Amino acid sequence: MKRAVPYVNESVATRDLKYYIFDWDDNILHMPTKIRMERLEDDGTWRPVELSTATFALVRSDTEHYRAPGGKWREAFRNFEDSPQRDNFLEDTRAALARIAAGERPGPSFNALRKTLREGRIFAIVTARGHSPAAVERAVRCFIDEVLTPEEREEMMSSLRGYRQWLDGVGDGEFGTDEEELDYYLSMCRYSAVTYEGFAKRMAADPIYQEKLAVATTAAQPELAKEFAIRDFVEHVFHMLRRSGNLNRPVSIGFSDDDKGNVKSVSRYIVGELARRFEGIKFVVYDTSDRTLSKGRKVCVSGQLNLPGF
Ligand SMILES: [Mg+2]
Repeated sequence: MKRAVPYVNESVATRDLKYYIFDWDDNILHMPTKIRMERLEDDGTWRPVELSTATFALVRSDTEHYRAPGGKWREAFRNFEDSPQRDNFLEDTRAALARIAAGERPGPSFNALRKTLREGRIFAIVTARGHSPAAVERAVRCFIDEVLTPEEREEMMSSLRGYRQWLDGVGDGEFGTDEEELDYYLSMCRYSAVTYEGFAKRMAADPIYQEKLAVATTAAQPELAKEFAIRDFVEHVFHMLRRSGNLNRPVSIGFSDDDKGNVKSVSRYIVGELARRFEGIKFVVYDTSDRTLSKGRKVCVSGQLNLPGF
């Protein structure tokens, strides 16, 4: 029998306070986005080739046979940025979802994002790509439309109204349309593509990161950018909970990434800085690099409590 979904899910007020930060590529979806390179042909000419991220990882050090177009790395990763001709991130998300519909296995955190949306929890997407926040949000909307069943979307709306009632004091008859409530929810989430120009500017304007960037090597800069995006989201959640007087309850924030290097540097950052600054928050890191595990390996890096369900 189908369980009736209440118009306002009041039980969200007693729910645990869990929030998530997701890497996108190969964590949520296996995207078809190609890297533009040039390959040295037998006749000595360089010919343009498009490589999958997996192939690129294998040949990137073979500088004798592969190079960025005209030596410009920005050009190589152009498909990982917005373009006036094509909504790159949205279209590639659509293609990745179509392959899942056709039977391909989704990324290890695919179902975690689906559940997060269904439960109306706030989340962040943090990716090394260069898209605008609006472009990432469009892809999240596409995920909601294509992945969630009508019942799951109903459950999501019910939770969203529950949170609005609990945290913002919105009463009966005061809720917006479904569209408005969804807009509000998605505006509370964060979409950080850390090589996007606007993101880099915001980071450069931050006094702490200005200093960190000044002494960082080129190789360490993407790691710093991910750090900055994570700190941004944790502060956002912290302020939201403080405003609503809920800081006295157990709060946990999960981070998932399929890149071992990111998992390591983010864990180090959490232990070294975030966990000290936000003592009451439990941080959980999910290493999803092992494709033979369905949800990835959980690495708890901070927090004394081990809440059931994690
Ligand atoms: Mg990834």
